[in-house]
Amino acid sequence: MNNNLFGRSILVGRDEKHGSLGLYLTLDNKPYYISLGQPGSVPNSVSRCIPGSGRAHLRIDIDPSGHMQLSNLNPQNITCVDGYEIMKKHINPNSHITLGSSAWPLPLANVLDTAANVVSKVGKSAPKAYTVAHLKDVWHNYTLRNEKMDKKQSIYAFLRGIPMIVAPIGGLLSAYFVANGRTSPFLISLTVTLVTVPIVLYSSLKMMKQPEEKKQNLNNLKKNYVCPNPDCRRRLTNFEYEELLKMKKCPYCGCTFK
Ligand SMILES: [Zn+2]
Repeated sequence: MNNNLFGRSILVGRDEKHGSLGLYLTLDNKPYYISLGQPGSVPNSVSRCIPGSGRAHLRIDIDPSGHMQLSNLNPQNITCVDGYEIMKKHINPNSHITLGSSAWPLPLANVLDTAANVVSKVGKSAPKAYTVAHLKDVWHNYTLRNEKMDKKQSIYAFLRGIPMIVAPIGGLLSAYFVANGRTSPFLISLTVTLVTVPIVLYSSLKMMKQPEEKKQNLNNLKKNYVCPNPDCRRRLTNFEYEELLKMKKCPYCGCTFK
């Protein structure tokens, strides 16, 4: 069996329109329906395969390691494997399967080949999987830097507010010393100015640089926090890293994350 069928399910029944064999499978959430064999070749005792409804005579589930299980989908259906009527049974590519009251032989090899062809034509097998582990650091470095900048911003804002505190104290001191004839108002003002102006200038300059630093941090994120699929590489900046892990796939190209 072609390994592109691993992890897939195939619904099998009678094609209502042509009386041939109908196969139904979904790939990347899209439905695919195939009519197989000569018109009128499948007897009416085989249940119809109705696309999109989940209804069919039987379903073949192939697990990720290639083991097949056949499920009869309706107790009124007759499904036999190697001569025994079953509802559910593990099968292999050589199992002899008959359907309906007339024991119509299901061409299993043909069913599997046809389904595998559809898979290889449509999806070029399963969507590719890429690791996103490296994005964890990218995202966390970004948030960490942002947090640090926010903290610094509040320190600078505090420093810039120092004159508001110093001015009334300076005024009081000035009044006190001048009244006692110890110094002149000019010297007091000069001292206050010499102390506060550099602090205000320093913190203001730092605050002015912050938007630029934040922008750089965001640009860095935009550049590196992208889909790992080389054919996609679209920005994933709308999603936190933990969210990406939960989504399990790229919202743009559909590649899966591991
Ligand atoms: Zn992508």
